[in-house]
Amino acid sequence: MPIATVNPATGETLKTFDPLEPAEVERRLAAAGTAFREHRTTPFAERARLLRRAADLLEQDRDDIARTMTTEMGKPLAAARAEAAKCVKAMRWYADNAERLLADEHPDADQVRDSGAVTARIHYRPLGPVLAVMPWNFPLWQVVRFAAPALMAGNVGLLKHASNVPQTALYLEDLFRRAGYPEGCFQTLLVGSAAVEGILRDPRVAAATLTGSEPAGRSVASVAGDEVKKTVLELGGSDPYVVMPSADVGRAAEVAVTARVQNNGQSCIAAKRFIVHADVYDAFTERFTAGMAALTVGDPMDESTDVGPLASERGRDELAELVDDAVSAGATVRCGGGRPEGLERGWYYRPTVLSDVTPGMRIHREETFGPVAVVYRVGSLDEAVDLANDTPFGLSSNVWTRDEEDVHRFVRDLQAGGVFVNGMTASHPALPFGGVKRSGYGRELSGHGIKEFCNATTVWQAG
Ligand code: NAP
Repeated sequence: MPIATVNPATGETLKTFDPLEPAEVERRLAAAGTAFREHRTTPFAERARLLRRAADLLEQDRDDIARTMTTEMGKPLAAARAEAAKCVKAMRWYADNAERLLADEHPDADQVRDSGAVTARIHYRPLGPVLAVMPWNFPLWQVVRFAAPALMAGNVGLLKHASNVPQTALYLEDLFRRAGYPEGCFQTLLVGSAAVEGILRDPRVAAATLTGSEPAGRSVASVAGDEVKKTVLELGGSDPYVVMPSADVGRAAEVAVTARVQNNGQSCIAAKRFIVHADVYDAFTERFTAGMAALTVGDPMDESTDVGPLASERGRDELAELVDDAVSAGATVRCGGGRPEGLERGWYYRPTVLSDVTPGMRIHREETFGPVAVVYRVGSLDEAVDLANDTPFGLSSNVWTRDEEDVHRFVRDLQAGGVFVNGMTASHPALPFGGVKRSGYGRELSGHGIKEFCNATTVWQAG
C-alpha cells in the first residue's frame, strides 16, 4: 500500500511519500532509546507541563488539522473538529490525573506483615519505547488515546500510522516536538506494514499497541509473542444495539442513526446489529429506517453533510459485497443499497438498512465498516442476549430498556467490554475502553489504560 494522501471524496491522489530508509528507522529507534533514558525519570509535573502545552497547540490548530483529516479519510468536517477537541480533553485529563493514577499502592498493614516485610508497596515504572500501529478512522484520536497516557507514564512513542493518513501522522510528530518534548519522545515512522515486524523485534522496542483489523492484530501479536513483548489490541467490533419493550423507542431510533453512521459508519464501536423486541420492532424499524433514509450524503467538507465517502475504494467495495451477498440470499433492503446518485467520483455508499438477515449470510458474522445496519426481530431477552453474543467480536454493546432487571441481565450476560444503557457507546478518558473475544485484549484510557505499559513493581523491604 503506497504511503499517500488520496482524497476519498474524489479519488484523487494529492500527495505521496517515500517510506523511511532503513538507516533512518535505525536512527529513530536509537533516538527513542536515548529519549527514554531521560524521560523515564522526568517528574510528573514536567510531563504534565509538556502534555498541556501539546493540548494548547492542538486546540489552536483544530480547524487546520480537521481539514487535513477530512481530506485524508473523508469524515465530515464537523466530526473532524470534534475529534481534535476530544484529543485536547484527553491530553488535559491525563496531565491532571496521571500522577494520581500511578501513585504507589500500599497493601493493608497486616498483609505487609504477613509477607514478612516491614514495608511493601507497588510502584509503577514505564516500560520503554512503545510501538503504536494505528488505523485511519480516527487518525488523531486513536494516537492520542495511546500517546497521552504513555508519555505521562514515562514511556516514549513510535507511531506507525495507517498509510493513507501520512499528513496527520507527520502533524502528530510535529505537535509533540513544538510542545517541547525532547527529541525521540514521540516519533512518526513513515513505513509500510511490512516493516512492522523488524521494528517490533528490535530490542529497543519494549511493547506494542495496535488498533485495527483482526489480521493486523494477529500478525503483530504473534511477533510480539515470539519476542515476549507486551501488547494491547483494539480490533474490530460488531456491536449489538438491543431495544426492549420498555424503551423510549423514539429516542432509541433517533440515537441509533447516529450510532450507526458516526464517522461515515467506520467506527469500531458503531452499533452494527439492531436487535429489537417484537413488541416494538415495527415502531423502531420504521423510525430508524426513515432516519437513515433522510441523511445527507455528500462532500465531507460541506457543513450540511451527514455522511461522507468511505475512506478507500477497497473499503467501499467490501461493504457493497457484504450487502450484495445478503440480498442475493434473501435479505430485504429497507432503504439505501448501492451508490448514491449524482456522486460519481469518490467512494460513497448510501445509508442502508437490511432486515431478514439469516445466520448463513456473511453480513451476520462479519463487521460492516460503513453506513449499513442490520435489524433483527427477537421475542425475548434471552433471544436478544443469544443473538447479541452470536458474533466473533466483543467490543461494546448498547441496550435500551427502563427495566432494571433487564439491565442486570444484560450486564451479567453480554460478552463485551462495555454495556451502554439508554445511550450509544462513546469513549471518555476516565472510563476503560477495549474488548473481549476477537475484539482484542487490554484496555485503553482511565487508570487501566495508563497501567498497561507500566511495570507494576513490588517493593518489599525487611527493615
Ligand atoms: P488495518 O488494515 O488493520 O490497519 C491498521 C493499521 O495496521 C495500519 O497502520 C496498517 O498499516 C497496519 N497493518 C495492517 N496489516 C498489518 C500487518 N500484517 N502487520 C502490521 N501492521 C499492519 O485496519 P483497517 O482495516 O484499515 O481499519 C479498520 C479496522 O480497525 C476495523 O476492523 C475496525 O473495527 C478496527 N478498529 C478498531 C478500533 C478499536 O478501538 N477497537 C478502533 C478503530 C478501528 P497500513 O495502513 O500501512 O496497511
